[in-house]
Amino acid sequence: LDLRTEDLRNIQELGCGNGGVVNKVLHVPTNTIMARKIIHIDANPNVRKQIVRELQILHDCNSPHIVSFYGAFMTGGDICMCMEYMDLGSFDRLYKKSGPIPMNIVGKTCCAVLDGLIYLYDEHRIIHRDVKPSNILMNSSGLIKICDFGVSGVLINSMASTFVGTSNYMSPERIKGATYSVKSDVWSLGLTLMELAMGRFPFPEDGRPLSVFELMQFIVNEPSPTLPAGQFPPEFEEICHACLLKDPAQRPTPKDLMLHSTFVQNAVTDKVDIEEWAKSLM
Ligand code: ATP
Ligand code: MG
Repeated sequence: LDLRTEDLRNIQELGCGNGGVVNKVLHVPTNTIMARKIIHIDANPNVRKQIVRELQILHDCNSPHIVSFYGAFMTGGDICMCMEYMDLGSFDRLYKKSGPIPMNIVGKTCCAVLDGLIYLYDEHRIIHRDVKPSNILMNSSGLIKICDFGVSGVLINSMASTFVGTSNYMSPERIKGATYSVKSDVWSLGLTLMELAMGRFPFPEDGRPLSVFELMQFIVNEPSPTLPAGQFPPEFEEICHACLLKDPAQRPTPKDLMLHSTFVQNAVTDKVDIEEWAKSLM
């Protein structure tokens, strides 16, 4: 599929983040609805071309829990990426609109994210690097998929060299500048699970706003956040605790969680109708 700006008709803006803006668009020649992300990078044209080349790996990332990719190209000085449109949007919006996510849906979300992370790492040696509620999407068929993972080394470096390259979901080892691995994604998953279940970012516990710098110090120096006592099932407390072990050597990998977490094992066999829940939100 040869994507060109002229063939994309804007329908509506879906949101914007630090790196760019996402729109719902129609690809007129194929009559396909897509989500188009435009990323503005202050880099020379050769670097941008290199990023677009590296993004082509996304064509090979095919898994039921990964948002599918239509293509990437340059437009003006920006990088344009077209991906599958997920009509219920991201989980940050879902919980902000309708409150904390029910435990059985959190369970299915956890399985989807783990499955996606395992696929990315096993098949492509890709670490996601940006697991958080806004990068977990859902559609009205009840499918849950992850997006915005780090495929392009050059793009990762260009983003990391700017201040916006930091995130509330970064693991302590990554903040400290140590080498990091898939276990860094597990830390981010732990915060994400807590956030979905509680309906708010889990720390600081008193909810007072922290600057990015204070938050990073907090993550590195303070004990990991914990769930409010007695409100959640013990197997959920257990997985959050395991994901948020500060020492990456102690923390499980996505595969460890898939194989050994009781919460995940229960969620895998749970018969909850996600599609029905999804429809109830529309
Ligand atoms: P950050 O820039 O900090 O990573 P973000 O993930 O919210 O934050 P974007 O990735 O630019 O920023 O996405 C903006 C919003 O667009 C998301 O919050 C999400 O709600 C929506 N969005 C992104 N991709 C899609 C998609 N494929 N389908 C539907 N909505 C999407
Ligand atoms: Mg995103």
